[in-house]
Amino acid sequence: MKLMEWQGKELFRRAGIPTPRGEVVRDPEDAAAFVAANPGSWVLKSQVLMGGRGKAGGIKFADDPNQARALAGELIGKVLKNEQNPDGERVGALLIEEKVAIESEAYVSIAIDRAAKKPIVMLTAQGGMDVEEVAARDPGAIAKYWIDPAIGFSPFIARRLAFAANFPAGFHKALPGVIGGLYRVFMDYGANLVEINPLVLTKDGAVIASDAKVELDDNGLFRHPELQAWKTEGPVDDDQAAAIATGLGLSNYAKLDGDIGVIANGAGLGMGTMDAIRNAGGAAANFLDIGGGAQAELVKKSYNLVVSDPRVKAMFINIFGGITRGDQVAKGIVEALAGDDVRKVPLVVRLTGTNEKEGRAILAAAKMNPVETMDEGARRVVEMARGGVFP
Ligand code: GDP
Ligand code: MN
Repeated sequence: MKLMEWQGKELFRRAGIPTPRGEVVRDPEDAAAFVAANPGSWVLKSQVLMGGRGKAGGIKFADDPNQARALAGELIGKVLKNEQNPDGERVGALLIEEKVAIESEAYVSIAIDRAAKKPIVMLTAQGGMDVEEVAARDPGAIAKYWIDPAIGFSPFIARRLAFAANFPAGFHKALPGVIGGLYRVFMDYGANLVEINPLVLTKDGAVIASDAKVELDDNGLFRHPELQAWKTEGPVDDDQAAAIATGLGLSNYAKLDGDIGVIANGAGLGMGTMDAIRNAGGAAANFLDIGGGAQAELVKKSYNLVVSDPRVKAMFINIFGGITRGDQVAKGIVEALAGDDVRKVPLVVRLTGTNEKEGRAILAAAKMNPVETMDEGARRVVEMARGGVFP
């Protein structure tokens, strides 16, 4: 789960990392009211998961309530785009934060280094820009340290890193606290990544996390049920919102370039199905994983989601039943096709595994004949997409 900036900063504050004071608003009037109640200079920051908001026009400055209202009105609802995110991301909320006078911008992060099987701390004094850019242009400017989780992170390491990365002197005293706090967030919340870019040294000599990027490992989320509420913050574009409305997770549905709809159970089978379609000379219009143990209702809704894409000319439903029961899947398919309100496309079904017989019987009663193998199914669905032949 990727966190919005304001959520990441909430975790930072819990770990004692200084952040600017601020407030989350979802309405231009609230932005105006906040600035009216707190006179001063404020930054309006679009809350989206994509990076590079500054360059994409998602960060504005306001000095009075009217300006705050006007800029918030511009930003809320706007779709921010940049090279990495050509589809863009709609702004739902703004974080209004005290504008600080920047003396210097640095970069600090902790991530999992999968090769070393350890958390890696990275620092560079060249903050505020893409760290990949720094890595490409000036790799020596990045100081690295691999943390042994059995030992933890010691303040003296932070001091050593501050020197290694040539941090301006103003950073040095605060750095052990910042990295120590970052490591606590990393471990306590089971993160894959915690990043502060920029870590700001202000003209007044304070060191503040001006931005926050936090990615949590979904497998560890059960340890923090209080963070469940943040999951609803997830959908970042129309497709993801549609996936959530369908009852799927954000990583269970993705649109692709082809014209053959795909529904499978399990991400691996979904990808295998896309490959089989590719090998048969076709191209998948989407990836959709109904997950384990899906009930008829989810199958039906997933069918509707896939055919709601007008490019889809034919569909391949590929189920290998383990915890997913074939009869539930078959029931969902039959129910989906029973509705008059749903677009019907030529459909190929492969159904093996748990309750396969029962599932096939349900399909047979509806005059559908499932195929035996994935490759056979892929060949047939590609033919159907080309010719539009109904089975
Ligand atoms: P990102 O572009 O999505 O990474 O968003 P950031 O939160 O990193 O902000 C981008 C840039 O906006 C920063 O690098 C700063 O240059 C600028 N910025 C953000 N907050 C402030 C602030 O309080 N004061 C000043 N002067 N600039 C800021
Ligand atoms: Mn940033």
